Amino acid sequence: MTETAIATEADEQTTIETTDGESTERTRKEWTTYRSDGDTAISVRNLDVYYGDEHALDDISMDIPEQSVTALIGPSGCGKSTFLRSLNRMNDRIKSARVEGTVEFGGEDIYQDGVDLVELRKRIGMVFQSPNPFPKSIRANVAYGPRKHGEIDRGLAARLLGRDDSDQEKALVERSLRQAALWEEVNDRLDDNALGLSGGQQQRLCIARCLAVGPEVILMDEPASALDPIATSKIEDLIEELAEEYTVVVVTHNMQQAARISDQTAVFLTGGQLVEYDDTDTIFESPESQRVEDYITGKFG
Ligand code: ADP
Ligand code: MG
Repeated sequence: MTETAIATEADEQTTIETTDGESTERTRKEWTTYRSDGDTAISVRNLDVYYGDEHALDDISMDIPEQSVTALIGPSGCGKSTFLRSLNRMNDRIKSARVEGTVEFGGEDIYQDGVDLVELRKRIGMVFQSPNPFPKSIRANVAYGPRKHGEIDRGLAARLLGRDDSDQEKALVERSLRQAALWEEVNDRLDDNALGLSGGQQQRLCIARCLAVGPEVILMDEPASALDPIATSKIEDLIEELAEEYTVVVVTHNMQQAARISDQTAVFLTGGQLVEYDDTDTIFESPESQRVEDYITGKFG
């Protein structure tokens, strides 16, 4: 290779500041240009996120395939949650956050002016790290979204107006709880307070609440990190099942979990960079990047 060719190639790469134990290997664009066989659900292009002066995500481009599980892994602080939140504009709620770039979903950039955020977050739902059910009945938790969006009308006022969707609500609650693999455990106590459920059940209830509004994409930020191994394994099974119908993007700091449940894995490293994105098997068995290999073999992070 001529010296000019080397110089040109080097210009296309970026050097970054690294943390203890991490090498200074440069990233290469081809390590992150991954296309699956399936259709793309969300297409992210040149996404930068800043918190004030802090550059939390650095020029991320990636396509998230439909009806599959995409895992986001990487050490703490590398921007996984920030990236996940940027997929349904949850960062809008953080005052100091500024987002540049595009996130295309259903043929439209979600960052365009005039996007209906309530509708967007219905289509791209989110499940958080600690289960956060409302202090209401199990039924009311699942029906919360549809009631709020006016899809289900019930109670005295509705009855007086000749409209009562109780049957519809019943069916929706059952369907959502079944999809979240919780129905068998709670069907005899739907009017009990959700806070009486175990942590694992509460998290599956939050998943049911998210499913009840009919999302296409489900974003999960370390959904099992507060749970014991048995509850975790139920959530993992559920995630794999959900991916038959939904697009699931899951942040996890547990690499074994990513390896078990995901179809493709994106590795974020220091500096808010996406360093490598590929089939999960490739990432764990033969990554291109030395830093990714060092990370997954536990040399840092
Ligand atoms: P991860 O989920 O990979 O641990 P985060 O996305 O939470 O990483 O954070 C990425 C960087 O952005 C970190 O340096 C973090 O301190 C910063 N950050 C995250 N959330 C906020 C926030 N709400 N306000 C300011 N800085 C934030
Ligand atoms: Mg996080």
